[in-house]
Amino acid sequence: MILTDTADTLGTPDLRPGPENPVSEPEGTTTVPSPGKTQSPALDLPPAGQSFDPPSADLFATDPIQRAASLQDIATLIAACQKCKLCSSRTNTVPGEGPATAKLVVVGEGPGRTEDETGRPFVGRAGELLTKILEAIQLPRDQVFICNVVKCRPPENRLPQYDEIAACMPFLYRQIEFVKPKVILAMGGTAAQSLLNTKQSLGALRNHVHRFRGIPLVVTYHPAALLRNPNWKRPTWDDVRIAARLLAN
Ligand code: URA
Repeated sequence: MILTDTADTLGTPDLRPGPENPVSEPEGTTTVPSPGKTQSPALDLPPAGQSFDPPSADLFATDPIQRAASLQDIATLIAACQKCKLCSSRTNTVPGEGPATAKLVVVGEGPGRTEDETGRPFVGRAGELLTKILEAIQLPRDQVFICNVVKCRPPENRLPQYDEIAACMPFLYRQIEFVKPKVILAMGGTAAQSLLNTKQSLGALRNHVHRFRGIPLVVTYHPAALLRNPNWKRPTWDDVRIAARLLAN
């Protein structure tokens, strides 16, 4: 995977390294080997961060989410879900999409208007930018499992509330269990805080290699935030390259 020859396809905002977006190693860079792997000398990674390990179901679980036997089973359960108030205003549920064999899982916040209308994650403007970000690390979007913390659109695109996130997280846990990705990319504060079970700010969580059930998890800005604030282009590029290095490891 070529990490410096990036993103001919990236549009606006431009994440490519260049005079405006110089390639930089994140501050405090150290080398963190994956468990059980021989360390590559070229693999500079930021320090280890938080680790969150929610319990998995036991063999005799009766919870339908734990009994779901495929990503499609989980999507079917999501389609029928009425565990929180978001179900009353949704047009479609947005379970997420991508192959069960994906090496990367991208987690956003929750569906917006276009996602609610189509039932697909990240298909609006933020989604177009996400597709370009993935292409910049040589990852076609259709090779990535893309999903959100909440699977129904919060009204007026407000932040998902605590009870909504709590009701929806078991679906995400189970999706990650199925895909068993090599790396998780948490985009935005809601995804990062929910997956790491922390209230720490996005700024504090960036530039570390966290772990979710042992899987390396990298935190970066949400593509929608990036559309609003082009100054976050370069740090986002730094974060995405960390994820790419972990994938190449
Ligand atoms: N923002 C998100 O967090 N998720 C989507 O699917 C679309 C926009």
